[in-house]
Amino acid sequence: MDFNDSPAEAEFRTNARAWLDVNAGRDKERKAPRVDDTSLLGEGKVWQAKKAEVGYACITWPKEWGGGGGTPMEQVIFNEEEAKHGRGYGFFAIGLGMCVPTVMAFADNATKQRFVPAAVRGEEIWCQLFSEPSAGSDAAASRTRAMRAGDGSGDWILDGQKVWTSGAHYSDFGIVLVRTDPDVPKHSGLTMFWVDMKSPGVDIRPIHQASGESDFNEVYFTDVRVRDSQRLGEVGKGWNVALVTLMNERLAVGGGMGPNWSELLALAQGIPGVGGSSAAEDGGFRERLADWYVSAEGLRLTRYRAMTALSRGDTPGPESAIGKIVSARQMQEIGEEAMNRLDQYGIVGDEHERHLISAFQHNWFWGTALRIAGGTDEILKNIIAERVLGLPLDIRIDRDVAFKDIPRGV
Ligand SMILES: Cc1cc2nc3c(=O)[nH]c(=O)nc-3n(C[C@H](O)[C@H](O)[C@H](O)COP(=O)(O)OP(=O)(O)OC[C@H]3O[C@@H](n4cnc5c(N)ncnc54)[C@H](O)[C@@H]3O)c2cc1C
Repeated sequence: MDFNDSPAEAEFRTNARAWLDVNAGRDKERKAPRVDDTSLLGEGKVWQAKKAEVGYACITWPKEWGGGGGTPMEQVIFNEEEAKHGRGYGFFAIGLGMCVPTVMAFADNATKQRFVPAAVRGEEIWCQLFSEPSAGSDAAASRTRAMRAGDGSGDWILDGQKVWTSGAHYSDFGIVLVRTDPDVPKHSGLTMFWVDMKSPGVDIRPIHQASGESDFNEVYFTDVRVRDSQRLGEVGKGWNVALVTLMNERLAVGGGMGPNWSELLALAQGIPGVGGSSAAEDGGFRERLADWYVSAEGLRLTRYRAMTALSRGDTPGPESAIGKIVSARQMQEIGEEAMNRLDQYGIVGDEHERHLISAFQHNWFWGTALRIAGGTDEILKNIIAERVLGLPLDIRIDRDVAFKDIPRGV
């Protein structure tokens, strides 16, 4: 494996750097935009449109859909360079990472023409409506239902509740997984639709998080009318469509983010330790730091391995689950260590005064969410056990049972 840029990649990096220097500015103190900070929505949309103009938005997507027609390695290189400018707006991640690829895979040409380039340019934002109060890890347990309208139009009427829908409050459209047949086993009775989030009967209610943010929402559907042309894939085949979205989700949420071991080291060097020396000289701290350094390097190289596979046209395997397990846990641990080292000041960070401290706090809160989103630690470990290590499958009591007959809590 060669970790250096190939001549073509090096040229791409030079061009990307030059473009970013001119267009993005270089502001090391710029905060990573918070997903729920809708005051940055306009700024994010302008940045997305600027990238789309020159092919730096959705670099691997075909040019005919507004993408850059480039390689996965070029996307990685651009992400690395863009991150140095603090320009990673979260508003588009779910739409472009998960929903729009699903639309591209399952919608007809006219629908794709209508939605894909607009999403690439950041003009419209998408959300993913899968989770429900009793359908999280078991996403196929979805109970939100769609029934044909009784007027012969072929339209569908949606009723039910989704939960944890990130960005629903600023999204224009969503992809929604619903039950269209409760009389067959759970994976066979689902159908996927795209839905206009401004449709009558869609009620979006924000959920307030411990971190003070409000990234996600409950979404209620009450008699929401959806045309049959909004269906993605065949009736009853929604699980296959959802798998495409979920596969992209695992890839999209695997990357590391926030301050890492080197920033923790810098912080510790400026904090007094026992006996007057800096906290960085504490033996226990150094040992933990060495562990994080080792796993961060392991992650980086594993990521390169996955990217090399992508460059060669292979599909990344279930190994990508490892990246998410390790990076989310590490993010949480590093945040916790920083807060402990700062003692009582660790919980009083003011993001306007001490950006790095608030970034560590944010990591600590966000790491918890990341260990759940896109597949919990336990579910990802199940995947690794079954598909990487070949251990026996998880027990299932609902195989071949009609969804309506599956026992459920009272
Ligand atoms: C930040 C964030 C953003 C999110 N954004 C979205 C979004 O945009 N759209 C959306 O649809 N959803 C979203 N979600 C929801 C997310 O997909 C679910 O929270 C996740 O799938 C877990 O489901 P659950 O919360 O219902 O937990 P449950 O599935 O009820 O799990 C509870 C616990 O039981 C464990 N468990 C469950 N089944 C097994 C098993 N078979 N073996 C071992 N352990 C098991 C789980 O690992 C977990 O620890 C988001 C979640 C978070 C945290």
